[in-house]
Amino acid sequence: MTSTASTLPLQYDFSLRQHNTFGIDAVAHAYLPVTSVQTLHAFRRASDLSGLPRLVLGGGSNLVLTQDFAGLVLHMCNRGLEIVGDDADATYVRAAAGESWHGLVQWTLAQGLGGLENLSLIPGSVGAAPIQNIGAYGIELQDRFHALTAIDIDTGEILTLDRAACAFGYRDSVFKHDLRDRAVVLDVTLALPKRWQPNLRYADVAQELDARGLQAPTARDVSDAVIAIRTRKLPDPALIGNAGSFFKNPIVPAAQRDALLAQHPQLVSYLQPDQNFKLAAGWLIDQCGWKGKTLGAAGIYEKQALVLVNRGDATGQDIVRLAQAVQADVMARFGVALEPEPIFI
Ligand SMILES: Cc1cc2nc3c(=O)[nH]c(=O)nc-3n(C[C@H](O)[C@H](O)[C@H](O)COP(=O)(O)OP(=O)(O)OC[C@H]3O[C@@H](n4cnc5c(N)ncnc54)[C@H](O)[C@@H]3O)c2cc1C
Repeated sequence: MTSTASTLPLQYDFSLRQHNTFGIDAVAHAYLPVTSVQTLHAFRRASDLSGLPRLVLGGGSNLVLTQDFAGLVLHMCNRGLEIVGDDADATYVRAAAGESWHGLVQWTLAQGLGGLENLSLIPGSVGAAPIQNIGAYGIELQDRFHALTAIDIDTGEILTLDRAACAFGYRDSVFKHDLRDRAVVLDVTLALPKRWQPNLRYADVAQELDARGLQAPTARDVSDAVIAIRTRKLPDPALIGNAGSFFKNPIVPAAQRDALLAQHPQLVSYLQPDQNFKLAAGWLIDQCGWKGKTLGAAGIYEKQALVLVNRGDATGQDIVRLAQAVQADVMARFGVALEPEPIFI
């Protein structure tokens, strides 16, 4: 059965400024808060909306809005956090896509469940976490992922995807490839380990805990340490518009890394399981002299060269120009291509 958009709580000419952490002032033709899967079924039946381009929006913390959006924004606002079961190895927690990621981490800690603490304070929604397989301080979403539910917005089919089906990679998943623009994540189920051990692989975290005199830290202690480190290092989007790390750390073959190391003995690189090397993008950008620089109304954060910031009224085009200038300099100096992490709209 078809119906019209008039039955839906749509808003037109909707400003997205408050809905992207860069604080870019772009306008969406139409905006629909999605509080349940029923809203999405109703949207699919509304024949007058079917031809519009769509953007699924969470917290807008991984987006560059390069212009106004001449389509419909589906803003995931569904809520719900629950423990759905356990077995000998794990406790299973399900969270709705519209929940805040950091809110989920804090809620699990309040339930006495460890496992997500290294991912504290990552902005954005639960539903977006699988899209780029969020990661920080030695843990990625895939390490705690059990399954998710999504709707295929083209067919209305409800999909259940396990870890293998999500094809997680470094800041990558099936949602950036085969299921791009089709799957809307409705909820995510995580498996939190019964035999919890702190993950202190990152020296920063170990040092912070040491400085606090915590030899046998709890999951809450690790979360507090991660929050303190992130607060020191990264700009708060409420104060300075940004999307976190703007470029992925490039992965290069061993021969290229060796050649670079011969020319630049300070090169920061990490051996990968497949024998390639991950280079620290922030170091490459810093070497090109970009840290703290400004171009138009966009700039590079003073404390971390990997973070592009809005210095005031930056447009999406200001961000794009700066990103391209940085990419060109890194390519000219090191012969390395930097790939942006955020999605350009
Ligand atoms: C200060 C700062 C620090 C950050 N630190 C990290 C970090 O340490 N590690 C890290 O991995 N990332 C980090 N990020 C990036 C960002 O927080 C994550 O990518 C986050 O998962 C994005 O969530 P979001 O809800 O804001 O997504 P949005 O920006 O709203 O959307 C991002 C993409 O996901 C899609 N999407 C969103 N929700 C859904 C859904 N329910 N179903 C289908 N598609 C959906 C959107 O269409 C878009 O393509 C940081 C960002 C900032 C601003």
